[in-house]
Formats: sequence, C-alpha cells, structure tokens
Amino acid sequence: MRAETVRRIAHECGFELAGVASCDPPEDFARYQDWVASGMAGEMRYLTDRRAEMRRDARNLLPNARSVICVGKLYNTPDPPREEGHARISRYAWGKDYHVTMRAALERMSARLLEIERFDWKICVDTAPLLERSFARLAGLGWIGKNTCLINEPLGSWFFLGEILTSLDLEPTSPPPDRCGSCTRCIEACPTDALVPDGSGWTLDARRCISYLTIELRGPIPEDLRAGMGEHVFGCDICQDVCPWNARAPVTQDPDFAGAPIPLVELARLSAEDFHRRFGSSAIARAKHAGLLRNVAVVTSNMAGPGGQNHH
Ligand code: SF4
Ligand code: SF4
Repeated sequence: MRAETVRRIAHECGFELAGVASCDPPEDFARYQDWVASGMAGEMRYLTDRRAEMRRDARNLLPNARSVICVGKLYNTPDPPREEGHARISRYAWGKDYHVTMRAALERMSARLLEIERFDWKICVDTAPLLERSFARLAGLGWIGKNTCLINEPLGSWFFLGEILTSLDLEPTSPPPDRCGSCTRCIEACPTDALVPDGSGWTLDARRCISYLTIELRGPIPEDLRAGMGEHVFGCDICQDVCPWNARAPVTQDPDFAGAPIPLVELARLSAEDFHRRFGSSAIARAKHAGLLRNVAVVTSNMAGPGGQNHH
C-alpha cells in the first residue's frame, strides 16, 4: 500500500493530520528515560513503571510492526462565553471523552485500509505505552515545541493524537523543522514555572504543571503551587493559548468537542453520584470526584483574593 493512500483515507475518516513513521525505536527514548529518572513524572506510574521500558520499541505492542501511521484530530472548538464564577476547564475535556471518539475513528480507518490489503494492526490512543509525540513528529505531523506539544504549521497544536501500528512497510514521511525559533512565550506565561531546561531543550516538570496537579495528583496540592492554579479546576491550556502558532489555528464546529461554561458553585455541590452521572463519559472523570472538589476548593480560595489560597 502507498503512504499516500493511507493519508487520503485518514483525511476521509476525519483526521486533519496524517503521516507515516518507520517503527524503528525513536532516538527520544533516552531523553524520556532521563525525564523519568529525574522524577519529573511525579506520581504518574503509567509513565514510570514497567510500561516505561515498553516505550523503547513499538514492537513491544505489535511484534511484527513495520510502520506507525500517525493521525491528528483537531479539537479547537470556539471558546464558550466566560463569565465570572465559571470553572476553567482544559479545552480537550469540554466534549465527549476523546479516547472513545478517537478509537472509533481509527477503527473505521483500519477497516477501510483492510479492504485494500490484509495486515496486522494495533490501535493506540494516548494511554498505550508508545512515544506517540515522537512518532507524530517523525511522521511529519509537526515539531515538538518548547511547551512540549506537537505543533503543526499551519494548524497549531490543538490536536488529539492516535496511531495505528501496522505490519505494512509504508514509506515514511519526513519530520518538519522546529519553528519555535527564539520564542519563549510559553515558558514566560506558565504560572507555575513548569517548563524547565533539560540540557538539550525544554521539558515539562509535571510535578509543577497545573494539568498534573488538577488531574493526576491524588491528595493535597502543594501549598506553594496553589496560587498559580488561578481559576483552573481541570487542566491548563495557557502554554498553548499563548503560542503564536495557535493564533490563526482553524476552529472546528464538531459538536463532539464543544463545551458549555459550568458555574463553580455547581461543581462544588456535586455528590459522588452526580459526578459520575455528569462526567462519567468525559475526560474529567480522570480527576475523580474527590480531586475535582479539591480543585474547586483551591480555585474558590484563589478567587477570594490574595492570601486566600493559604487557608486550605
Ligand atoms: S499546562 Fe499550564 S501549568 Fe502546565 S506547563 Fe503549560 S502553562 Fe504551565
Ligand atoms: S509559545 Fe513559542 S516557544 Fe512556546 S511552543 Fe509556541 S512557538 Fe514554541
């Protein structure tokens, strides 16, 4: 099969970005290992336990893999109107859980490809132990910015990534150049200084990142980072919002990704049952009921004014 055919079918299946990488182990693995060893992954065990080693080689997931088909789905929906007292929620979590929608679209795409030729395959979305951003870069989808996101020129960085590992030997796409240049906007805008130098560039100290603190961390949020959380109750998009490559990024009207503003008081009153009913099929479920209430308490305190954040 030709890589061009794969890209065309990916576009027909709704993916704005598509490309192919060889399944040879990405050089980035050593950097990833250093990052894990430095402790910057915090308590995200799925990144640091035995699954870390699995990321060395995609063939740990599909032994006869030859190529990685990488796709990106734009989720840059219009901002819902923001009013005082509304919770700030990361854009990726506004709509339905993207793991479900991405997997369904990748399954449709695999079925289309299998009509052309038989092959072995495995679908990966986000949680699979695969260096998905590295493969996406190698497949030509974009470069990895100083904010650690994959950025495409001209489409920006509001993308969900997914992969089909395949036994097909497809011609790889070539990676684009890094276009961050001398820009440092994301580093300066990060309220908790979570983007840090790592010797060969910039990396994310997840332990300081609002996304990690509000979604992955269990237990109390370290006091010195509470004020930096501002109004963020789930995730943080600041380092993408300020990126000049997103200024003219296209907007999708896909209703699956659209959001509606949620008043903070409404979240504060959710019982465990309400939480599961309301967010059970959303990415917000990952924060758990206790985590979301913890975040709402910190944000409420932050909004109460200076000094308020110290009283939790
Ligand atoms: S998501 Fe927010 S806290 Fe995390 S690195 Fe980006 S700006 Fe900083
Ligand atoms: S804000 Fe600037 S430095 Fe940061 S990712 Fe975007 S272009 Fe790169």
